[in-house]
Amino acid sequence: MDANHLPIPDRDGPRDECGVFGVYAPGHDVARLAYFALYALQHRGQESAGIATCEGGHITTLREAGLVSQVFDEEKLRALDGDMAIGHVRYSTTGGGSWENSQPVWRDDGREVALAHNGNLTNAVELYNELRDRGLRFRGTSDSEIMAALLSVEDARPIENAVQAVMPRLEGAYSTVVMTKRAVVAFRDPHGVRPLALGKLGDRYVIASESCAFDIIGAELLREVSPGELISLTEDGLESRQVIPTGRRAHCVFEHIYFSRPDSRLEGVVVQKARGRMGEILWREAPVEADLVISVPDSGNPAASGFARASGIPQDDGLIKNRYVARTFIQPGQELRKHGLRMKFNPMPEIVGGKRLVVVDDSIVRGNTTRQIVHMRISAPPIKHPCHYGIDMSTREEMIAHERSVEEIAAELGADSLAYLSLEAVYEAIGLPAEAHCDACFTGNYPLGDDGAGNGKFALEELAVVPASR
Ligand code: SF4
Repeated sequence: MDANHLPIPDRDGPRDECGVFGVYAPGHDVARLAYFALYALQHRGQESAGIATCEGGHITTLREAGLVSQVFDEEKLRALDGDMAIGHVRYSTTGGGSWENSQPVWRDDGREVALAHNGNLTNAVELYNELRDRGLRFRGTSDSEIMAALLSVEDARPIENAVQAVMPRLEGAYSTVVMTKRAVVAFRDPHGVRPLALGKLGDRYVIASESCAFDIIGAELLREVSPGELISLTEDGLESRQVIPTGRRAHCVFEHIYFSRPDSRLEGVVVQKARGRMGEILWREAPVEADLVISVPDSGNPAASGFARASGIPQDDGLIKNRYVARTFIQPGQELRKHGLRMKFNPMPEIVGGKRLVVVDDSIVRGNTTRQIVHMRISAPPIKHPCHYGIDMSTREEMIAHERSVEEIAAELGADSLAYLSLEAVYEAIGLPAEAHCDACFTGNYPLGDDGAGNGKFALEELAVVPASR
């Protein structure tokens, strides 16, 4: 046996998108609340982090490339005083990863706003051209800045009416928080593609991409922001408006499979539990004789447990994950590459040696040939199509399942067998109807009426946007 040749090198799954947070809570340390909420949402984006606060009619924004813990320290947090705050963690889905594209974005083209957005506008280019024709200039190349500019130039007052005027013009996915000198306003696209939740902190309210951000700051999940809804948080409390009637719901099913943190509640479902059920059904759909179930940590853990539970096959930790992996730009070089450098996972020969293994993960891994019996089980269907609603899935050509049969992929991985969970099983596991979800990356059926062409990640950059001076 050669444990170094398990088909599990560094995996490069779909990239996370973004996480947003908003709070209106005079008397609280709002910057610190935002910091810890973003800390809990770090899995949604590791490229940059930012917080904007408002005090005495003055908005201050601090955003940098890096993890939340790298961007902020005590001194910086103390400088971010105020009664309200919004925050953002980012993995770039539109525009490159430059500082200009970190968030919250700030604009003052008539109304001062700071804005944080998760999603992707499918008509960003059209809106950008229109604003440019009106003489507006942009610092970055993200669709979030376009949204901020639209709200900033909008004549309708107050901000709630401006959001109401702008929302019908936006196409695609947007879970957004915008802050003015008076209010924090959250709004979500009428399909509800990306998650957005409302929480309560004492007698004040908070908004976040996922409920795990509420747990860490002692807030309580009240409900999700409805698709098409606007929620305004001000001195007068909470105001809700259904700006656009909820359309065909298209909640991202991949949030349940992969993106959301296991301890979050999504559409009333505890993510960890649903992922465990996916593993159980995976056994029912693709049973196999084996000695040991191992997961690819951490993403494969709940499904591996479910698979072991349902099959009665023992489970152990055969792969150890480096918990402190952050982004590195240092390349391994020739010598380490030959050795098969494993940045994230190290297989344990003492545990997996000589055993017929079932390796469970939630997305496919590329790998070397194995000399021991390995059955791969994936707790999701094969990804075959790109996402245009805020997830970086790379292009079709780069996807391992593109135009390859399951047998061909297994051969490429060097696995003795490979099976994916069916899409029906995903819906069975989460206990929610397919009609209320988007599953375009598996099926190619884009539910927002677009043909899937959308605006590519660098669509705005391709327009040769000239950055304005800061
Ligand atoms: S295409 Fe996939 S990742 Fe994108 S929103 Fe739909 S289900 Fe989610």
